[in-house]
Order: sequence, then structure tokens, then C-alpha cells
Amino acid sequence: FLGQKGNTRQEEKFKMLQKKVGEIHSVPVIVREMTTIQDAVVSLFLANVGNLIVTDEKGNLAGVASRKDLLKVTLGNPTAGSIPVSMVMTRQPNVVTVSPEDTILEAARKIIAHQIDSLPVVIPSDSEKPGSHWKVVGRITKTNIIKMLLDMVAED
Ligand code: ADP
Repeated sequence: FLGQKGNTRQEEKFKMLQKKVGEIHSVPVIVREMTTIQDAVVSLFLANVGNLIVTDEKGNLAGVASRKDLLKVTLGNPTAGSIPVSMVMTRQPNVVTVSPEDTILEAARKIIAHQIDSLPVVIPSDSEKPGSHWKVVGRITKTNIIKMLLDMVAED
């Protein structure tokens, strides 16, 4: 009986390890570098997200702006609304990303290790030299991962 139970647990862990980011990620919420702080805040509320992904004029990943990044710059600064979001974002190459082929486990580890809420899901940008520019295809959040776990529990 114990052996049976042990096996089942192993299988469940294996199932979670195997699942790919590409199977569960959400649609990315993207703004351009020149977007104002004011418009970025409006986008956060409209899309009901905590993080915005910022892209350059070619559509490649430039940075990530979180709600705290935006809040910080607006505190005590009445003109902050007109500043471009690129001034406050965490910029490349400091953005932590995953590929659609990475496992959910890998994404969860990155989120915890870097104490962040979400990761852009990226693929190499074919217009540039490999490994230097990234096209954004999605975003994966703590919520995506928890929802997947709940779905797996419901399946059993
Ligand atoms: P919040 O601002 O709501 O706490 P996060 O915890 O996601 O949101 O962000 C905390 C900090 O980490 C912010 O400064 C943000 O720019 C940065 N950050 C968010 N996501 C990433 C990421 N994928 N890679 C690197 N830095 C990130």
C-alpha cells in the first residue's frame, strides 16, 4: 500500500515537472518604452495585472515595469505622469525570462529565487543575432502556476 502511494506521488511530481510553460502561460500585457507613466498605470488597471512588459521599437523585450516601480516614481512627484515608462522599468539584460519549452518547475524556481510575481515568456528574435534580442510571446505568473496545481488536483 505504502509503495503504491509512493509511486503515485512520484508520478504526480513527474507530471508537474514535465508540463511546459508554453502550455499554461497567459497573453502578455505589453507597452512601448515611450509610453508615459500615466498611460502605463491605466494599462495596469485595464488589464488587471501587476506587471507590464516593455518592448522597444522593433518589438523586442526592453524591460519590465511593476506596480511598485510605477508607484515609487509618482510619490511626491506631480509631473511623474509624463515620464516614459523606460525610466523606471527593470531593463534588459536584468529581466528574468523563460522560454515556452522550459518546465513549470523552472519558472516557479525563478519566480521564488528572484522574488518577483511574473516572468516574460520569450523566444529568440530572428531579426537579430541569436541570444541578444527576444520576442515576447506570453507571461507566466504565480497565479498561472497555482491554477495549474488546482486543475491537477481537480483531475484526480
Ligand atoms: P511588485 O512591484 O508588485 O512587488 P514584482 O514583485 O513583480 O511586483 O516586482 C518587484 C521588482 O522586481 C520590480 O522592481 C520589478 O521591476 C522587478 N521585476 C519584476 N519582474 C521581473 C522579471 N521578470 N525580471 C527582473 N525583474 C523583475
